[in-house]
Formats: sequence, C-alpha cells, structure tokens
Amino acid sequence: PAAYKISRFEYVKNFEQPDVLLPNTWIVVRIDGRGFHKLSDHYGFVKPNDRRALDLMNAAAVEVMKELPDLCIAYGVSDEFSFVFHPNCQLFERRNGKLVTTIVSTFTAYYIYKWSEFFPDTPLKPPYLPSFDGRAVIYPNAHILRDYMSWRQVDCHINNLYNTTFWHMVLKGGMGNTEAELELKGTVAADKNEILFKRFGVNYNNELEIYKKGTVLYRQYELEEPQATQVSEEQPEEKQSRSQQDKVRKLRRKAQVAVDHVDIIKDDFWDRRPWILS
Ligand code: ATP
Ligand code: ATP
Ligand code: MG
Ligand code: MG
Ligand code: MG
Ligand code: MG
Ligand code: MG
Repeated sequence: PAAYKISRFEYVKNFEQPDVLLPNTWIVVRIDGRGFHKLSDHYGFVKPNDRRALDLMNAAAVEVMKELPDLCIAYGVSDEFSFVFHPNCQLFERRNGKLVTTIVSTFTAYYIYKWSEFFPDTPLKPPYLPSFDGRAVIYPNAHILRDYMSWRQVDCHINNLYNTTFWHMVLKGGMGNTEAELELKGTVAADKNEILFKRFGVNYNNELEIYKKGTVLYRQYELEEPQATQVSEEQPEEKQSRSQQDKVRKLRRKAQVAVDHVDIIKDDFWDRRPWILS
C-alpha cells in the first residue's frame, strides 16, 4: 500500500452530493420505529397503550436532548419522535445526512441500552431488534413550525381515540377485530366517545394525559433564571459573539429536560415558555 499515492484515489470524494439544509430555518428530524406493529406484538406491548414502551421512548429522547444542545424542543407519540433544531443551529454545517443519522443512531443506542430498565422480564432477541428511520424537514418560520407540532398532536389525539375505542370493543366487548373495524368505519369523534361511555362506562376525558396528548420535551432552565439566555429574534447567529454562543450552549447543556404531557396547539404552552422558540 505504501507504493500508492492517496491523490490517485482522492477524486472519488467529488462524487458526494451536497445536502446542506437551508440556512435560518427550523429543522425537524422525525424518527419512527421500523415495523413496531410486529415488534410490539412480539414483546407483548399492552394494547392500545403500553406505558413502559412510551416511557422508554421518552427516556431515550431525553438523552438525545442532553447530547445535542442545539435541540430546543421534541414531541413524541407512539413509536415516533420529532426533534427540533433552532434556525441558528450550525451543527455539522447543517448537513442533512449527518443530522438525521446522528439523531437516529443516538436515539436507537439509548432505546436499546435502556430497554431492560423498562422491560426487565422481556429481553431483546434477534431478529426483533428495534430500529428507526428518520428524515429532516425544514420549516421557514415559527408559525409553520407550530402548525407542524399541532399536526403531530392532533394525529396523536385522533389515533388514540380510535385505538382506545377499538381495543375496548375487542378486549372488553368481545368483538372480532374486523367486526370492530367495520363498526368504527366512518364514525366521528362524538360517536367514539359515545361508544366508550355507553358501552363501557369510560369517559375519554379521564384517560391519561400521556396517551391523549403525547409527550413534549423542552429545557427548563429559564424557570430558574428568567433573563439568563434570552437570545432575541433580531440577533441572528452570525451577530452573536463567540462567548455569547458558548454561554447559550453551556446553559442548554446544563438545563434539566422537562417531560410534559400538555396541549401544544393552543398559545398558552408557548406564551408561558417564550424561551423555547427564541
Ligand atoms: P413502519 O415501519 O412503516 O413505521 P409500523 O409497524 O412501525 O410500520 P406505525 O404506523 O409506525 O407502524 O405504528 C406503530 C405501531 O406500533 C402502532 O400502530 C402500535 O401497533 C405499535 N406501538 C407503538 N408504540 C406502542 C405503545 N406504546 N403501546 C402499544 N403499541 C405501540
Ligand atoms: P467525527 O465525529 O467528526 O467523525 P471522530 O473523532 O469520530 O470525529 P474520525 O475522523 O471519524 O473522527 O476518526 C475516527 C477516530 O476513531 C480515528 O482517528 C481513531 O482515533 C479512532 N478509531 C476508530 N476506530 C478505531 C480502531 N479500530 N482502533 C483504534 N482507534 C480507532
Ligand atoms: Mg412509518
Ligand atoms: Mg413505525
Ligand atoms: Mg409510527
Ligand atoms: Mg471516521
Ligand atoms: Mg467519526
């Protein structure tokens, strides 16, 4: 090998495609479990909502937030999680592939590492090993980013109401899967609430918030230090001094990650935590 010059081969580098994401935009990386329908059956996840599985997803996502201070918020439901990078994020020069693969592999590593903590009696065994896909989408402003987050939470609500009703009909009502599916076809939310209440005495409003609302993760630091890390909208990354940037990153790194199950569609959540999108 010593006889070859590296310069003879280096041209292959030119085949790489650029994939830098547009500057000054919100980057959302959404990951989703591969084949979790089958995987959840195999490991006996409780239907429709296995609390252990959700807690494991959230625990892995908290570790991702801790490792990547550029993330400002994350939202999770079922086998998916959306991680949001601030517009001034410069991690990996904003290269799509680098950002997505780092999130996916860090999340997967923690999901597997922590599995036994949440499923002590059900060890992982090939070929049913958890893996995740991921993609990045950019959003041009905070308004559209919030609509993205709202979209995921509305999806959580619709799916959870459907699944809760379906599994009551099957597990408590003794109906077949196809039979329950047929009856639910074309029903609206009010119909499902009525089925739950009239047939099973269940008031959907009393279901756990984690099931109805999903999980939002954000940094808690400004609750203790209200002024410490205000970065105003009119001051883009380039204009912040090095030391100022370092200070913000350090504070983010030290901050506790809050785990909440609350409405993120209305203004209230954001009004009370202005630092999340600032
Ligand atoms: P794909 O690989 O296309 O994502 P998938 O089988 O993972 O396929 P999804 O649409 O992502 O399909 O749905 C995830 C499925 O995983 C749910 O429909 C549900 O069956 C199961 N699941 C995920 N989380 C839980 C949980 N906490 N409790 C019970 N079941 C769950
Ligand atoms: P980046 O996050 O930018 O990839 P990095 O520290 O991973 O940074 P690389 O250029 O990927 O840097 O280099 C990987 C480094 O990991 C090597 O330089 C070497 O120090 C170490 N390394 C990797 N594999 C081995 C190995 N099998 N034995 C010893 N050292 C290794
Ligand atoms: Mg999918
Ligand atoms: Mg999936
Ligand atoms: Mg999914
Ligand atoms: Mg390397
Ligand atoms: Mg490396």
